[in-house]
Amino acid sequence: MAPSEIAPSAAPTVARLIEAFHRLPGIGPKIAQRLTYHLIRMPQEEAEEFAAAILGVKDKVVLCETCANLSESQECVICSDLQRDRTKICVVEEPLDVVAIERAHVYSGLYHVLHGVISPVNGIGPNDLKLRELLERLRDGSVTEVIVATNPNLEGEATAMYIQQLIGPLGVSITRLARGLPSGSDIEYADDSTLAHALESRSEISSRPDDPISGP
Ligand code: ZN
Repeated sequence: MAPSEIAPSAAPTVARLIEAFHRLPGIGPKIAQRLTYHLIRMPQEEAEEFAAAILGVKDKVVLCETCANLSESQECVICSDLQRDRTKICVVEEPLDVVAIERAHVYSGLYHVLHGVISPVNGIGPNDLKLRELLERLRDGSVTEVIVATNPNLEGEATAMYIQQLIGPLGVSITRLARGLPSGSDIEYADDSTLAHALESRSEISSRPDDPISGP
């Protein structure tokens, strides 16, 4: 193995772990080194539990067949909860957005996880997202409101407009979270009360039939 670029003097197994941490989002070289040395000092059983937890999510976690949220069975805990309001679907970019909205305790409907946003710069088009699955869920007419909770940035707004065009013809009410979330920020990082307010004050997306974005 090539010597580590971020820890050239470390033993190869140590360098390998430093590099593994460094590949995680938000982990710089210093933190990667600190985490590695923390693990080295960790009791054997604690380290084994940590490794097993990583393998556990890789082995057991799948996407819910209905909403594409993370799940350990065909249907996630939210889709299989009969107490939830089945007339509402909140569309989010990532599974962590579901966690954030659930934490705000103001929403009791269902979700739909897109697993991304439309982003021409990154080569992500509508067909790369779970949009066909969303359309499928709306076919029987039991859902009356779709809340588009994509992030309040350029790509999130463009994706919201695309969804509005896509499902508008079905006659379902399409709403967007109220302004108030810091523009350009992620829903995932919004504090609970801001998110609760944005959800409660959501408003209908206005129809723009002359919008140049065309349907699939
Ligand atoms: Zn689900």
